[in-house]
Amino acid sequence: MISPLYILAYPCAQPAGVHLFKDIMSKPESSVTVAANFLRTIIQEDLESGKHGSVVTRFPPEPNGYLHIGHAKSICLNFGMAKEFGGVCHLRFDDTNPEKEEQEYIDSIKDDIHWLGFDWDGPVRYASDYFEQLYDWAIHLIKTGKAFVCDLSPEEGREYRGSLTEPGKNSPFRERSIEENLDLFQRMRAGEFAEGERALRAKIDMASPNMNMRDPVLYRIRHAEHHQTGDKWCIYPSYDFTHGQSDAIELITHSMCTLEFEDHRPLYEWFLDNLPVPAKPRQYEFARLNLNYTVTSKRKLKQLVDEGHVSAWDDPRMSTISGFRRRGYTPASIRNFCDMIGVNRAGGIVDLSMLEFCIREDLDANASRAMCVLNPVRVVITNYPEGQTEQLELPRHPKTDMGTRTLPFSREIYIDACDYEDEPPKGYKRLSPGVEVRLRGSYVIRADEAIRDTDGTLLELRCSYDPDTLGKNPEGRKVKGVIHWVPAAESVECEVRLYDRLFKEPNPDKNAEGEDVHFLENVNPDSLVVLKGCRAEPSLADAQAGEGFQFEREGYFCLDSKDSQPGALVFNRTVTLRDSWGAK
Ligand code: ATP
Ligand code: MG
Repeated sequence: MISPLYILAYPCAQPAGVHLFKDIMSKPESSVTVAANFLRTIIQEDLESGKHGSVVTRFPPEPNGYLHIGHAKSICLNFGMAKEFGGVCHLRFDDTNPEKEEQEYIDSIKDDIHWLGFDWDGPVRYASDYFEQLYDWAIHLIKTGKAFVCDLSPEEGREYRGSLTEPGKNSPFRERSIEENLDLFQRMRAGEFAEGERALRAKIDMASPNMNMRDPVLYRIRHAEHHQTGDKWCIYPSYDFTHGQSDAIELITHSMCTLEFEDHRPLYEWFLDNLPVPAKPRQYEFARLNLNYTVTSKRKLKQLVDEGHVSAWDDPRMSTISGFRRRGYTPASIRNFCDMIGVNRAGGIVDLSMLEFCIREDLDANASRAMCVLNPVRVVITNYPEGQTEQLELPRHPKTDMGTRTLPFSREIYIDACDYEDEPPKGYKRLSPGVEVRLRGSYVIRADEAIRDTDGTLLELRCSYDPDTLGKNPEGRKVKGVIHWVPAAESVECEVRLYDRLFKEPNPDKNAEGEDVHFLENVNPDSLVVLKGCRAEPSLADAQAGEGFQFEREGYFCLDSKDSQPGALVFNRTVTLRDSWGAK
């Protein structure tokens, strides 16, 4: 278990680890452009040629985990194409595997799709809705001599299957009579046999170069409860025997899936050709999304949760849609990202900085500005009248009219300890002895004295202000720096969580030398830094869960949707202001 690095005093340098990893980041230069999508062209042509009158797509998640950013690509494609061409998209849970599936996953998947801005047509569908029809179709295959009950054990079945270089062998049970097959299959359904004792298989071709065509299993015996069908069934159809027929039942026109299903397409078509299905959908394959510094496999994500490397499926460091949401990503930023990466068959690895570019662009345009001091040091403005307070109005956004916020200004304020140096390095534009800076939206102040304890820790700064500098430059001299601040009395204490990449290496399955390692070895121990005792400007007390802000000079942040309470605010850093990974 990796515990977060808690630090109370925030060192002025970036926390350890933040600049450990250098990488060459390709950053898109202009704003979001839509990349090529070969499936859009196919759909367009099918509509123009009249092959299809309208588009029906489906998104078919297996409810065995939360959705991740790879699924977002599939969602944007399936729902996006349907929307673009005035068609519809179904949500169909691919729930043929009774044991692994949970209601929590079903609920989270529905929430994530809605959050991304999409909605399915009609009811939520389940492959298990079609179990009775699939059973009838299995009977049809038996009756037409195209399926048989096989008594080989799973191990024997694997041996008979052959390999990529050797053909398989026919099962000794392949030539059973139709009557015997019907009898045995009905008894399989009735629960007469143990798991693994028998299976229903298609009769295709044990010598096919495509392993999927070597008499594939259609039904297995599983004495397991199913979350939708309860204990009604003890035989369950395979994915291959379910998917295409479910598409046919739903009159799906374009069944879009990832490339690993390419070799399954001949089987998908074999079932449609050999069954009395109401339609013949077509399967198209596209490349999965792979993002560097990220894992996109539900199995690995589950392991991160189960072993406590992260707090939950929606931990803001997770590549789950709910993780990105809690981190402060907006639905538009993820949709733009999916447009930007396009859809093709070539694949490759997408740079995480592209996704970061999309959220920065969205928040830069739409997030309210605010000030929050992460490492506060008290400043007393000695020549400001005691007991006086001015209410300063600051715009919420520098370009768009988003209204204003009020900041009280009086004798005591906080600034960030990083904004003061006794002996400033060359080019330093912040506070140092005798040097002036502007407080954002307020006056120009000059540092007169630093008060330290015996260890040298900075306790307080004594400054003076120029009363003639509110909204105008001082006479006869230039002030170079602008720093952020909050009022001492009215600011609210908060916790700030700084997130970094969850993995140290671009490919979490390799170490820096390029050797294979377990992905958990690459978990970045500094991926979470918690800062306590930060001070936020008073307007932030009204922040809503998930609402994004630009904390001036610090980055983009949002109020945490789980752990924040009124009076004990918690902000998550969504992304830094700039891509600092290669730069620092
Ligand atoms: P995982 O390996 O994470 O478990 P999966 O493919 O088993 O993924 P499913 O729930 O079966 O997950 O996927 C639902 C849909 O999302 C499928 O059509 C699948 O092809 C698609 N999908 C899954 N991962 C990606 C990805 N990385 N990029 C694009 N589409 C994906
Ligand atoms: Mg799957």
